[in-house]
Amino acid sequence: MLTHGLHYASAVFEGERAYGGTVFKLREHTQRLFDSARILDFEIPYTLQEIDDATQATLAKNGLVDGYLRPIAWRGSEMMGVSAQHNKINVAIAAWEWPSYFSPAERLKGIRLDWAKYRRPDPRTAPSLAKASGLYMICTISKHEAERRGYADALMLDWEGNVAEATGANVFFVKDGVIHTPLADRFLNGITRQTVIGLAKARGIEVVERRILPEELSTFSECWLCGTAAEVTPVSEIGEYRFTPGKISEMLMNDYTAATVPAAEKLAVNA
Ligand code: PMP
Repeated sequence: MLTHGLHYASAVFEGERAYGGTVFKLREHTQRLFDSARILDFEIPYTLQEIDDATQATLAKNGLVDGYLRPIAWRGSEMMGVSAQHNKINVAIAAWEWPSYFSPAERLKGIRLDWAKYRRPDPRTAPSLAKASGLYMICTISKHEAERRGYADALMLDWEGNVAEATGANVFFVKDGVIHTPLADRFLNGITRQTVIGLAKARGIEVVERRILPEELSTFSECWLCGTAAEVTPVSEIGEYRFTPGKISEMLMNDYTAATVPAAEKLAVNA
């Protein structure tokens, strides 16, 4: 109960998915866990390889082939107070089934998003680039508010009023066959976001990372969210703006699914 992580949010975590028994982008997620911990001024007392191995082992021990994994690292209860110089760093990994973050029926026709009442904090105000538990307080409040109003999620602006991201996923738009997405220098640069950018470029589609103002949303035809849990999920509505899931969203949904197939299975299919 006196865990520092609980009282002062000195905790960082990851969200990973396993497909066909293999954790997708495992090393990238483990590396981000270590990077997030350093941003919060603590070191994870294991090697990257030990955490990778423990993550795969947790999946197997839970009898899961497809599943969601949640490594978390937090300061323990040795000292109480803001200073936690001598608290032990604990690491745990949980695994469970999480078939789809948004309901499958909603996913295909596009989910509806509300505007969040909170904004992503200025990197001078909070460690915006870490996947830190404390940053999710405003996400939970915003998502609850959106759900009460009948929406699936909320879209957050950055502190300057540019479009930032949803409460647990990054956002993309399409205009005239070109993909536009907010520059990820002030919120989490999702591993799925980076994967989707790579997949789009491999298809020869131009991807522009830039500041996007909310009023520009009227000029976009397609929109989707992406993240480990959300995968690629088309969006039909953000506040007063409307989008129609189209060819590019569908192509990237399919390309993302294909990319998550473990290498061993791909070899078997090609053989
Ligand atoms: N932004 C936030 C706030 C998130 O919680 C997540 C999910 N981890 C993402 C973006 C997407 O990150 P990733 O693709 O690495 O899961």
